[in-house]
Amino acid sequence: MRGCADAQRCSEAVPLTRPSATLSRGERDGCGYYPAMISVEEAQSRVLAAVELLDAETIELGDALGRVLREDVAATHDIPSADNSAMDGYAVRAADVANAPVTLRVIEDLPAGKIARGHVTDGTAMRIMTGALLPDGADSVVQVELTDGGSTDVQIREAVRSGTNVRRRGEDMRAGDVVLRAGTRIGPAEVGVLASAQRRSVSVARRPTIAILATGDELVESGEPLGAGQVVNSNAWSLAALVAQHGAIPRRLGIVRDDRDATIAALESALACDFVITSGGVSVGAYDFVKNALEGLGAETMFWRIAMKPGKPVVLSRLRGRLVFGLPGNPVSSMVSFLLFVAPALRKSLGMTTDLLPPAANVRLLAPLRSKGDRRAYLRVRVGVDEAGELVARPMTSQGSGVSTSMVGANGLAIVDAGITSIDAGQFVKTLLFGFNT
Ligand code: AMP
Ligand code: MG
Repeated sequence: MRGCADAQRCSEAVPLTRPSATLSRGERDGCGYYPAMISVEEAQSRVLAAVELLDAETIELGDALGRVLREDVAATHDIPSADNSAMDGYAVRAADVANAPVTLRVIEDLPAGKIARGHVTDGTAMRIMTGALLPDGADSVVQVELTDGGSTDVQIREAVRSGTNVRRRGEDMRAGDVVLRAGTRIGPAEVGVLASAQRRSVSVARRPTIAILATGDELVESGEPLGAGQVVNSNAWSLAALVAQHGAIPRRLGIVRDDRDATIAALESALACDFVITSGGVSVGAYDFVKNALEGLGAETMFWRIAMKPGKPVVLSRLRGRLVFGLPGNPVSSMVSFLLFVAPALRKSLGMTTDLLPPAANVRLLAPLRSKGDRRAYLRVRVGVDEAGELVARPMTSQGSGVSTSMVGANGLAIVDAGITSIDAGQFVKTLLFGFNT
């Protein structure tokens, strides 16, 4: 063990079988036997490269909200189907009202859905409601507010240009045009467009199941009596909520004791799900068995150790075709590493091709940020809008990775790069924003 005093620690600290480049860059950390930390970007690209596309399934339109479309959807007909009025008013010939004020004879009344019998000629108008088809002969609509509102004769007070207040045939959708692309997350607007395209059923990505294993001898389930030194298994709940929020189905598989065989057995049963998330037991403690158990099962380790805080010990493995995300046990670390690594994987597996990673914006700090500077820090902030309408970030008062309440109300992670120990209030800081692409 290279003269290391802590043989067990070393044996657990070297599970990497590949990529060998990572091992060859091994650093002298502790007993000099750990792989080099990779960057967050490198970890994210390894995650995304490892993800496979889930199957598609056909569902009812009413169930489509939040799902990811897996087919291109084309318009079945022109929308609007013909030129129609954008206003309640009078359908006229622009040339007729060029010398307004003028009085025109009202020859028909056109509520939406009614087709004109006659057509508009010189000196005449039709009263028309929003959405009614523009009658032949008319080229524009004078809104009712610019008239006296008459029903047999109407006084038009202002001239209009030809085409005013007319919605053109096909200006929303043209028959045959693709109006929604595969990979689109279906929101309320997309549901409406699907309905317009006559789609009462639609092909979407199957929702994956995600096993959640919480490791730790100290853990008890929420609601159970809490003994000395025990900790409530809150991560299983926060992670399950994150999974559900990202369009997948959480399966909380309970608490796994800090024991290699128990961890192996739990991982094996978790493989019934599409993805596996573990919490805790991935660091270098003597009772951190997740990597060891994965190795024992013959998993391929795709990375372990990321140059970030919180979240340094995150491990990604592939075991029998399933991706296993080993997240750290600290409540903040597990949530932050979910947002940075698991969420992008889910989006990709669902078929999204853009917005896989959270967007970053430069946000002005309302209070200073402090960091040790040894690794890139992701610090919890609440992003809001100030009186001037600019994005501002208020750091959470505690930034400890064990302080779960520091995540409450947080909607952003301010990034403080390695080597930087503070950023003053008033400065801009690159901040990842959550909730834009869930
Ligand atoms: P570990 O990553 O296993 O070393 O755990 C780091 C810290 O996170 C310890 O203080 C654990 O008690 C705590 N922790 C681990 N798992 C959970 C969990 N499921 N819920 C809440 N806290 C946890
Ligand atoms: Mg533990």
